[in-house]
Amino acid sequence: MDDRTYTAAAEPGETATVAGWVHEIRDLGGIAFLIVRDTTGRIQVKFEKDGMDDELVERGLDVHRESVVAVTGAVEKEDRAPTGVEIVPDSLEVVAEADPELPLDPSGKVDAELPTRLDNRTLDLRKEEVKAVFEIRAEVLRSVRERFRELGCTEINTPKIVATGTEGGTELFPITYFGREAFMNQSPQLFKQLMVGSGLERVFEIGPIFRAEEHNTPRHLNEATSIDFESAFYDHTEAMDACESVVRAAYEGVAENCEAGLETLGLAGEFEVPEDDFPRLTYEEAIQRINATGELDEQLVWGDDLPTEAEHVLGSEVGQHYFITDWPSEIKPFYIKDHGDDPALSTGFDMMHPSMELVSGGQREHRYEHLVEGFEQQGLDPDQFEYYTEMFRYGMPPHAGWGLGGERLVMTMLGLENIREAVLFPRDRQRLSP
Ligand code: ATP
Ligand code: MG
Repeated sequence: MDDRTYTAAAEPGETATVAGWVHEIRDLGGIAFLIVRDTTGRIQVKFEKDGMDDELVERGLDVHRESVVAVTGAVEKEDRAPTGVEIVPDSLEVVAEADPELPLDPSGKVDAELPTRLDNRTLDLRKEEVKAVFEIRAEVLRSVRERFRELGCTEINTPKIVATGTEGGTELFPITYFGREAFMNQSPQLFKQLMVGSGLERVFEIGPIFRAEEHNTPRHLNEATSIDFESAFYDHTEAMDACESVVRAAYEGVAENCEAGLETLGLAGEFEVPEDDFPRLTYEEAIQRINATGELDEQLVWGDDLPTEAEHVLGSEVGQHYFITDWPSEIKPFYIKDHGDDPALSTGFDMMHPSMELVSGGQREHRYEHLVEGFEQQGLDPDQFEYYTEMFRYGMPPHAGWGLGGERLVMTMLGLENIREAVLFPRDRQRLSP
């Protein structure tokens, strides 16, 4: 249908064919309206029954809601119409009839629970506010890609079927690979590191990560989108600068290009690009500040990971995006480099939204002997990682990087209550289809 006009582009004075879904039918007796919706908006189709072909009127008004129709007619200015214009139809074709019973109401008049929405995503995304989330998600990824390019990165794609895990064995999904055991990749970590030692030097990847998370939570998925960055000749502070830049780029892109979507979500007035220079707290300062609030049942001690509650307590204290730096080496993965003068202290960092962790990163251990030692200390068999460690023997520069959860970025940006709202077809413990 190349002669089709989007509803938002229909101009008074022309004859146009619009095509879309029947959003609403209002029959007022002598006059009736059909509201047709497409991806750009809605338009009113007016039936003045007296002067019109009976068959056309009947076809137009007997159609079920959410059917796909194509309407051709004169576009006229009409101040009382929702968009200021309407179409007086010459012809109407029912392109695809919808069942009279719908599993959820795309007009949004009847609320649906999240599982029903996820089971019927096609219908769910006909709702303006749901569609807006995914348009904003697309803009986030577009602007993040653009910023990575500005930072001189090359986009890479690494395998998602792998022979070994990286972040510890418990969260792996095993699969059968031609009779051998393999796994779904938890993170592109090792592959992106192998690429900083290549001729590419600075890389990014946006791709799926798979985690067999123990629990169903509002901020964990079993398949998530990781936004990964890694650069040769960077230390952890430079990696944090890049992280801040990329996160701000996502907000800037949305502020600039998603005005309508933000409006639809009721965020137009309050949406703010986070200020630069995110505060950088050391882990030690972080646990001190958390303990000082007295809000946790038990005081945190050096070496504890921050429980969710602690993240919330500290987040509301800080009140903006911030970094936690200088984590104890023992709770960071083997590939994170220690501070030269203190092996108990790592260059690992997390970047936090006040409500949750968004990013983990750090400088990497690039010295072959230290790397292999680190494997052994974490109870991993270095032989299994030979494909990785070998490359550290042939000129691996110092490097640093991070991984940012794409869905958590969208979720926190838009204040969504559940991470599943930021994914078209989420994977969690119960949900494998659609
Ligand atoms: P958390 O402690 O919050 O479970 P993590 O420290 O295990 O996260 P990392 O391995 O550091 O996660 O992964 C880097 C980033 O990827 C996280 O900060 C988060 O934004 C995102 N991420 C990790 N696991 C998940 C998941 N299961 N669902 C959604 N996003 C995730
Ligand atoms: Mg982490």
